[in-house]
Amino acid sequence: MRRIDKSLFLHYYLIADKQSDKEAVMLDSLSELEGTRAQLFRQLQDLGDLRRGTISVAYRKCGKNNCVCAHEEHPGHGPQYLWNATINGKSYAKNLKPGPEMEKYRQETDAHRQFVRLCSEIVILNEQICALRPIPLVTEADDLIELKKKLQQRFPGRSIRK
Ligand SMILES: [Zn+2]
Repeated sequence: MRRIDKSLFLHYYLIADKQSDKEAVMLDSLSELEGTRAQLFRQLQDLGDLRRGTISVAYRKCGKNNCVCAHEEHPGHGPQYLWNATINGKSYAKNLKPGPEMEKYRQETDAHRQFVRLCSEIVILNEQICALRPIPLVTEADDLIELKKKLQQRFPGRSIRK
């Protein structure tokens, strides 16, 4: 009997030990993820001016029969650079002069693409952090009652009509 007790104790001891190892690993990756999150927020701050939309290049045929572009193998006049964006269902467009204006738009639209990518990375990272972050302990009975009350007020629900 005594022998069994001892082995049981050993068994629990091993489980407990493994558990704390696991917790240590979890906390490790938690602080690692928090570090990456801080980095991404810094990258967001460094983006500079941003603008929605894309820049495209077009060659256009002017439609005049006597123009050089009327020839089948002629690509059309161009290149013409165009910025366009669809914002709340409305489309916006602007011809861009190659040079500083176009470069400005290129940087702004690139920054916006980066912004969108960083935001989705930050959300994914945060959800990993949420999954690893332990649930806080509430040990005081009064605090627990208060907390449950607060949650019931926040989520009152409704009765279902028959
Ligand atoms: Zn033409």
